[in-house]
This record gives sequence, C-alpha cells and structure tokens, in this order.
Amino acid sequence: MKILVVNAGSSSLKYQLINMDDEQTLAQGLVERIGMGTDGHQSCKVNGEKVLDTDVAPIENHVQACNMMLDALTNVTGVVKSMDEISAVGHRVLHGGSKFSESVIINQDVLDAIEENIPLGPLHNPANLMGIKACQEVMPNTPMVAVFDTAFHQTMPPKAYMYGVPYEYYEKLHVRRYGFHGTSHRYVSKRTAEFLGKKPEELRIITCHLGNGSSMSAVDCGKCVDTSMGITPLEGVVMGTRSGSMDPAVVEFICNNENLTVSEMLNICNKKSGLLGISGLSNDMRDVDKAAREGNERAQLARDMLIYGIKKYIGSYAAAMNGVDVIVFTAGIGENNNKLREDVMKGFEFLGAKIDLDKNNALIPGKAEDAIISADDSKVLICVIPTNEEIAIAKDTLELVSK
Ligand code: AMP
Repeated sequence: MKILVVNAGSSSLKYQLINMDDEQTLAQGLVERIGMGTDGHQSCKVNGEKVLDTDVAPIENHVQACNMMLDALTNVTGVVKSMDEISAVGHRVLHGGSKFSESVIINQDVLDAIEENIPLGPLHNPANLMGIKACQEVMPNTPMVAVFDTAFHQTMPPKAYMYGVPYEYYEKLHVRRYGFHGTSHRYVSKRTAEFLGKKPEELRIITCHLGNGSSMSAVDCGKCVDTSMGITPLEGVVMGTRSGSMDPAVVEFICNNENLTVSEMLNICNKKSGLLGISGLSNDMRDVDKAAREGNERAQLARDMLIYGIKKYIGSYAAAMNGVDVIVFTAGIGENNNKLREDVMKGFEFLGAKIDLDKNNALIPGKAEDAIISADDSKVLICVIPTNEEIAIAKDTLELVSK
C-alpha cells in the first residue's frame, strides 16, 4: 500500500509518498510560491536524488499545486503509474483544539471542526484546509486522514494545561495550553520504548524535540502529561526565531515604548526573536555555534539561553513525573548537535543522568540513528531517536483506512 503524506502551508505543498510494505519513501517533493503572483517552484527527490528542481509559471492555487504533485509522482518520476496506486492521503493539521485526541478519517464534520479551530491556529489551519480540499478535488475517491499536531497532548491534566487567568476565558474562548509537535513526541516516545525493549507503560520519558521550533514533553506511561508549547507554538524554550516563554507584560511594555500594536509585537516574538533576535546573526544553530566558538558574545548568550531553558524543563518534568527513566533528544538540533547535547546534560548527575561523551561523539551529524548515549552506570538513560513525523502520519492513515 502506498500512502501520500501532505503538509500544506499557505503558499507551499510539501509531500512524501511512502510504500508501507517496507516503510520506504518513494518520493518527496515541494511545490512552492503558490498564489503569490510570482513564478512558482517545484522540486522532487527520489532516493535522495533531485529529479526535479525548477521554476514554473505562477501557480494560482492549491488545486493546481496538487495536480503538479500528482504529475511529478506519475509522469515525471514514474514512482507510481497512476494516482489510483495511492491508497490514501494523510494530512498534517496544526490545530485540533480540544476536539481531537487522535487522528481521524476526514469527513464534513472534521472539515468543519478544523475550520472552527482557525482562531486557535490562524496561520496554519486555513492552509491545511486548502490542502485537504485541493487533494479531495483532484483525488475525489481517495480516503483522507487528518493527523493533528495537538492530539498527543490532549491527555494532559487540567493542572498542566490551564493558564492562571479567569476561568471564563477557558469556558468562553478555549484559552489553555494545547502543545504542538505532538506527532513527533508520540512517535519518538513510542520508538524509544521499542528501541529499549520496554513497554511505554513502564517508562517516564522526557522528549526534547529541538529544531527550528523546539518543544519538550513529559510522557508518563505512554501518555503526555505536560508540554512546553502553549495555546500557540510561541511558549517554551527559545527557538530559531521565537522568543519562547516570557512575562506577558514585556509585550505591552515594548508596544508602548516602540509604538507597536500587539499583533506587530507578536509577529516580532514569532519571527525575529529567539536565536536570531539574541545573536543578531541567524536562526540556524550551526551559525550560532560557529559564531560563539569564534568569540561572538551574543551568539554565546543565545546558545547559553537555549541550553539553560532545556535544562530547566528537564528538571521540572522530572519533578512533575516524580522521576525520569529516559531523556530523549530528537529533531535537527537534538539529533545532530553533539556539543549541545553534551552541554545540556552536563551537571545532571544529581538526577542520575550521566552522559558518555564517547558514545555521544560517536554519532555523526547528518546521519542520525537510534542510540543510547548515557554511561553504562547512568540510572537515567539518555537517547537520541531521530523523529519521523511523515511515517507516523502514514501509519495512522494506513490504520484508519484499513479498519
Ligand atoms: P529542524 O527544524 O528539525 O529541521 O531543525 C533545524 C535545526 O537543526 C537548525 O538550527 C540546524 O542548526 C540544526 N541541524 C540540522 N541539520 C544539522 C546537522 N547536520 N548538523 C548540525 N545541526 C543541524
């Protein structure tokens, strides 16, 4: 069975076709600059080799982008002869609100619910909907599944997801912590248990998803009990361009002094802050690391803030679960940045977590693999588990359409 995984943005359509017999990716591609009035761009890789990478005439909408994706999969790469070979499509959807605690087959009710959640995910949910509707239009007989970024975190107890503002805002406006990267935290925590030959019910795991966007989760007995992102992905540790948590009064203070609106300020918090805002150089951790090594003080500060933030979440989640059995690193930084893992874990011997520097440094950046990097006598295991959200989406999709 071949499953197509789609991640639609407002001006892009990212896709991956996966053969579920061996879980191998047959092709992965991207259609970009949709609806922008400028030339579009299309790329596609088969076996990691680029077979398509070209500017194209302006792409009007997501329906045209879907047709280009199907053309790339059939006529250009030939990985499938016709779209009939695609058994189902799994869509990544950002915000499921409180309604979805797992993936679902898409019907009109689901489409309506994704629309209802637009106020909670104003940037992503409309784009996700456009992607779903476009795929439905060009593949009318193919079942579609929605996999929500928020779903895994729905098991959090109210004491972890409520904010300390008047209760009426929760009742009226659904203001609460939702958390994101849920598909990754679920995949990685499950995979960690498999890799260690344990049942998820036996483990208290702290998952550190550290990429351009970063979030941490406390996973107790296979269920998420807390996570660092909030009602939006802005909360938590400092990220590539996001500020992470801060006193909300900062927003009013800067708005008043710099004559900015709240939404202008939130745009700065989302797009110009974090590693980029502190270092003044880059949102990419590799650039920040390099500058810090060369003596750039602000780059060093950005790096120190990220490491300190991760350490504080590890400490607080260990307390929340009355202990921790495994600390797992994943995503671009977590999988590839050996020195950052070393610096995060430094000093955690008091918690029973001791990193083995030889094992840690044996991992090759860019070639992430499942690994234990803790010392043999460490009570808490420290692991690296590469995330694979596409496989997780494809597996959910296969399971639901096979029922
Ligand atoms: P992600 O959002 O998961 O793609 O992660 C992006 C972050 O991962 C960037 O800040 C990069 O610095 C980091 N990253 C990705 N690949 C590598 C690599 N091969 N070596 C070191 N860092 C990497």
